[in-house]
Amino acid sequence: MKNRSVLVAGAGGFIGGHLVKRLKDEGYWVRAVDIKEHEFAKPPADEFILGDLREQDVVKKVVQGIDEVYQLAADMGGAGYIFTGEHDAAVMHNSATINLNMLEYGRLAGIKKFFYSSSACIYPEYNQRDPDNPKCSEDSAYPAAPDSEYGWEKLFSERLYLSYYRNYGIQVRITRFHNIFGPNGTWCGGKEKAPAALCRKIAEADRNGEIEIWGDGKQTRSFLYIDECIEGVRRLMESDFTGPVNIGSEEMVTINGLAMMISGIAGKNITLRHIDGPLGVRGRNSDNRLLAQKLGWAPSRPLAEGLEKTYRWIEAQVRARA
Ligand code: NAD
Repeated sequence: MKNRSVLVAGAGGFIGGHLVKRLKDEGYWVRAVDIKEHEFAKPPADEFILGDLREQDVVKKVVQGIDEVYQLAADMGGAGYIFTGEHDAAVMHNSATINLNMLEYGRLAGIKKFFYSSSACIYPEYNQRDPDNPKCSEDSAYPAAPDSEYGWEKLFSERLYLSYYRNYGIQVRITRFHNIFGPNGTWCGGKEKAPAALCRKIAEADRNGEIEIWGDGKQTRSFLYIDECIEGVRRLMESDFTGPVNIGSEEMVTINGLAMMISGIAGKNITLRHIDGPLGVRGRNSDNRLLAQKLGWAPSRPLAEGLEKTYRWIEAQVRARA
């Protein structure tokens, strides 16, 4: 695999930044592109291009001389970003344009293989009303009824990648990530997701303090630590399975339970105050049966292990900011 040139789009972001490091460690030549620099850790790419992938000229340039593309660039954020409705047009326009450009100009440049990061947000809302029994098997995606425009765009783009596979013979590998978390991810500013937001609130709270939780906190989710996410991405890319396939954890917790775990890691006695806020579906968990069947591998590390590392990193960010 060495001597291969790969492009990581969205390398200034959380997952893309970690992926660049992994690919460099494996011996690839890596070109990175993003509309912004990485906020926390400069990815060790051979080349980092600052550019807007909605612009056709930028895309035409970055795909030159590349063998494989990892397409992670998207307009995204946590519930506070995608469920308020205020960013719907931007999310759909920006992310769809990026994917349309990447595939078309990548195809014309002769790229043979694309990785695409879809999301658990594509799954129908009607299968995720019972917090104890959410259904997220890959074959349950249709009839489609995602609960956000972010999810609809991801579903559209999954189909776009599959169309290029069918019509142009381009290899594609598609994952549906379920809540990836870890160090070097957004932890403040409005785009952060639940684990980072709760780590920040608890790091900022007094030893016997109180934090706010959106909703009653009984909604369930699972969270996958970044290292296992990257492992899954690489394994899928090297496999002969197109997907879409879930990459997530099957360790389901309530948001209240997640807050209590972090409180324990912080060594604090935190009280939860429930307030109104944007929520998303009532329950969601990864279903890794297809992943295990196709790759002979699935994530296995406990949530607490990744939370410990993430909390320490966010705690240090909060201290450095103070
Ligand atoms: P992120 O927001 O940290 O990274 C996305 C990157 O895309 C950002 O750095 C952003 O600047 C870049 N980008 C956005 N618009 C761009 C443009 N016009 N031109 C160039 N770059 C642009 O998000 P992430 O958590 O690293 O997620 C990576 C991918 O995985 C995304 O496609 C996301 O939808 C998907 N995903 C992530 C999760 C998760 O839990 N983190 C879950 C499901 C799916």
